Amino acid sequence: MRIVALAGGIGGARFLRGLKDVVAPGDEITVIGNTGDDIHLFGLKVCPDLDTVMYTLGGGIHEDQGWGRAEESYAVKDELAAYGVGPSWFGLGDKDFATHIVRTQMLGAGYPLSAVTEALCDRWQPGVRLLPMSDDRVETHVRITDADGTRAVHFQEYWVKLHAAVDAEAIIPVGADTAKPAPGVLEAIAAADVILFPPSNPVVSIGTILAVPGIRQAVASAPAPVVGLSPIIGGAPVRGMADKVLAAVGVEATAEAVALHYGCDLIDGWLVDEADAASVDAVTAGGIRCLAVPLLMTDPAATAAMARAALELAEQVRA
Ligand code: GDP
Ligand code: CA
Repeated sequence: MRIVALAGGIGGARFLRGLKDVVAPGDEITVIGNTGDDIHLFGLKVCPDLDTVMYTLGGGIHEDQGWGRAEESYAVKDELAAYGVGPSWFGLGDKDFATHIVRTQMLGAGYPLSAVTEALCDRWQPGVRLLPMSDDRVETHVRITDADGTRAVHFQEYWVKLHAAVDAEAIIPVGADTAKPAPGVLEAIAAADVILFPPSNPVVSIGTILAVPGIRQAVASAPAPVVGLSPIIGGAPVRGMADKVLAAVGVEATAEAVALHYGCDLIDGWLVDEADAASVDAVTAGGIRCLAVPLLMTDPAATAAMARAALELAEQVRA
């Protein structure tokens, strides 16, 4: 079976680990990763979501934090700070720096991001084929108004530095309109037996991937069933501030509203948490097959059960 998943960072990566636990030997998983969170820091190209997927599936992730490397040190960051060189709000550890150095060096030598990602995965052996959504530069910006006036800031500045404490007025995936899907992306979607939307951020992770011209259309017209899992439980994100970016696109932070935001043109099935069982009827009325199951990735067994439920729902849709 060929499974394609669109993924952001932590929510996507953790779900993919559960998915790997339940697929049969010989099944192929292709992950299309969000690169709208990418940022240039200290002259280096940093791809937070691709790296979170790669480290999580490759066994190098800092488990409690959910991003960055395990057993990390921060000597380089401290030295940069001693020179007064920022930003200081973005956590880059020494081991992580090496990844960004290799990536930047290869990009500078002319390799596209997809080839660089493949080379990095050669070391980590994530057990999936990890493709960036695009080789072209896309950067999500957020329009805010604060004491400094109305301005657009890089998504990382909004999320990590400002902790999404001010309202997001608009989400702009800069460069997405002219980006091309990376080699293999459209082909994987067209050839998939199942397409999954993990419980990733619907706006700045999955939404950004879908904003690359051709990808939304490919998913919508793919013969495979498309099944998503809600990142919102009981009216709030399980982790992070997804409610802030949902508000910016006029979507309520509920499992039901996110499903209807994707819509029946795009997804065929949707899993909500048992806490949101009351929303199953409304999602179903929207033309999307919906089930309530436990959706908290508390441990590997619970996460694997979510992946199994998603694959089973895909089979029901197909039948
Ligand atoms: P990011 O790029 O690191 O923000 O990661 P993603 O976009 O892949 O995922 C972020 C989303 O994962 C957030 O909106 C969370 O609500 C969601 N999430 C995190 N842990 C869980 C969980 O255990 N269950 C569910 N259903 N969603 C989760
Ligand atoms: Ca992200």
